[in-house]
Amino acid sequence: DPSVDAKTLCPYCDEPLPPFPTPHLKHLLATTVKKSVRNPRPTNPMGRKAEVTVFINVCQRHRFESEILPEAQAKGWPKTIEWSLIHERVMNMKDHLRALTENSIVGDDDDDDDSPWEIPGKSRNMKRARDGCVFWQEAMNDVKEKGTRAAGNVKNQFANFDKTQPGYYGELGSVIIHQTLFELFPPEDIQPEVVSPLSPKDFINRVLLPEVAIQLIMEDKSLSGSSGSRRALKILRDSTAYGVAMFPEDTGE
Ligand SMILES: [Zn+2]
Repeated sequence: DPSVDAKTLCPYCDEPLPPFPTPHLKHLLATTVKKSVRNPRPTNPMGRKAEVTVFINVCQRHRFESEILPEAQAKGWPKTIEWSLIHERVMNMKDHLRALTENSIVGDDDDDDDSPWEIPGKSRNMKRARDGCVFWQEAMNDVKEKGTRAAGNVKNQFANFDKTQPGYYGELGSVIIHQTLFELFPPEDIQPEVVSPLSPKDFINRVLLPEVAIQLIMEDKSLSGSSGSRRALKILRDSTAYGVAMFPEDTGE
């Protein structure tokens, strides 16, 4: 069809490319150009040909972006993230994260009157940092169910992969948050008994990392209080598959 701009078509399968290809898709297109040859055809004057194994990633990727991206757009998940700011944003959460690590007594910073975390008869100023932390509660339930050793093993880490992803921040976000957390709290400096029954590394991965993601999402969406935190948790869970596909670890080249 001559009315279609060939530049908007996939050079390999001739399907339309998404209107705004991600950096990752652009990168895949650029690298496969070098491994393919020109092959103009009636359906696509800019068509190219190559072994299927060369371009399969490109086609999977553009189909994904055509289907998932509209959902992300409808739900307000970001297409670009200021990666250079993440380190500092996480550094600024130091006090909050230290309180979680030490489970210190914290003031009640809820702005909700109907907070379900409020325990009747319990003095407000006796609230501890982990009391309202859903990730700590989930890790504790996991340990209760499977025992400490099973909860820390590789198979279980794999089963919990979704739960330890930072939502739309994706794998790349996970890597940057990780590095910053290890800088803030080197695992060897965390007293194991303080985070027991988790190991210091498990505590960072399963509690601090998703907690950072919640805080980032709350900042992004101007959410606050425990109701804001619950909304951020839903966004985090809903957008995890998107984040993994949108911001894989290798886009930063
Ligand atoms: Zn294609």
